[in-house]
Amino acid sequence: MKTLYEVMDGGSGDAEKVRRAGEILKAGGLVAFPTETVYGLGGDALNPGSSRKIYAAKGRPSDNPLIVHICRVSDLERIAWDPDGRAALAAEAFWPGPLTMILKKKEAVPMETTGGLSTVAVRFPSHPVAQRLIDAAGGFVAAPSANTSGKPSPTSARFVAEDMDGKIDMILDGGDVGIGLESTIVDLTEKEPMILRPGYVTQEMLEKVLGRVSVDRTILDASSLVRPKAPGMKYRHYAPKGDLAVVEGEPEEVIKRINALCEEAGRQGKRTGVIATDETARLYHADSVKSVGSRQDEEAIAHSLYRILREFDDEGMQVMYSEAFSARGMGQAIMNRLLKAAGHHVITV
Ligand code: AMP
Ligand code: MG
Repeated sequence: MKTLYEVMDGGSGDAEKVRRAGEILKAGGLVAFPTETVYGLGGDALNPGSSRKIYAAKGRPSDNPLIVHICRVSDLERIAWDPDGRAALAAEAFWPGPLTMILKKKEAVPMETTGGLSTVAVRFPSHPVAQRLIDAAGGFVAAPSANTSGKPSPTSARFVAEDMDGKIDMILDGGDVGIGLESTIVDLTEKEPMILRPGYVTQEMLEKVLGRVSVDRTILDASSLVRPKAPGMKYRHYAPKGDLAVVEGEPEEVIKRINALCEEAGRQGKRTGVIATDETARLYHADSVKSVGSRQDEEAIAHSLYRILREFDDEGMQVMYSEAFSARGMGQAIMNRLLKAAGHHVITV
């Protein structure tokens, strides 16, 4: 299949590109598009054939449900139940934006889209290109991240092309995404809302609107024997090709240990990479040292993490070490993704 590649450049041709992308989706095809979190791989959420195609293009297990993207709060009631009004409250506070809600699904949503579950994940993204495309496609677009299953989510269209060229109908290039990590997922089907995947919208922010909110304990704890409630969280996501370990402890000790480990790996002829911060990057000796930004700036860290993991892949790094970050606030999402990428390999110094 030839994949069309269209750049949204803010010019007068943009409307026509979105219209054509919408036609592709309505006809059962697949289009990758930018959102404020990461690039999504879109298909018509109400068409079971489209959802099957999404699983095939990503190589994604079909028990891992898709998020349905809408472009109007009022469309929520066509696909999901909100018996206690909590979804409306959360929508008022966080939509459009990086929050996905799990709700009981209505008939219109096929089981292919929900991975066989009677619940559906719904999000109203804030990215203008995403909103226009969803509208052009008829209002309901199933869109997981636009990466091959197991690879870091794409934060720019060139990473989408790396994974999806030849497998989907079109890529809409809307530049780099803003946030860089996937949406927060909150389950509203139980009495107490529960965060199944941490993201930009934190527990604290949700509690201000919904009262007590719990967090699935499998989010940071690899040893837990409990199954994650979001089927997708049980897979080793976000995996780089080389071996990645997270090194935690006092900053000076972390730097010393990472340098020693890189030296050792270098002696064995392995290419080494370090994920550092602006404060520490110049203190490391490795084949490649990349800063995620200032340690104080969680938004910068979220923004660059996946890009750096992909760049290390492209550079053929075999052994990588990362500093650890605070797991509070948005740091919970950052550490969740980093620990998953590292297969929970943590070295404490
Ligand atoms: P992605 O689209 O790549 O961001 O992945 C979607 C995530 O949402 C996966 O971790 C899914 O397991 C999760 N998800 C989607 N639908 C549901 C649902 N009905 N219940 C629980 N988790 C869900
Ligand atoms: Mg994904």
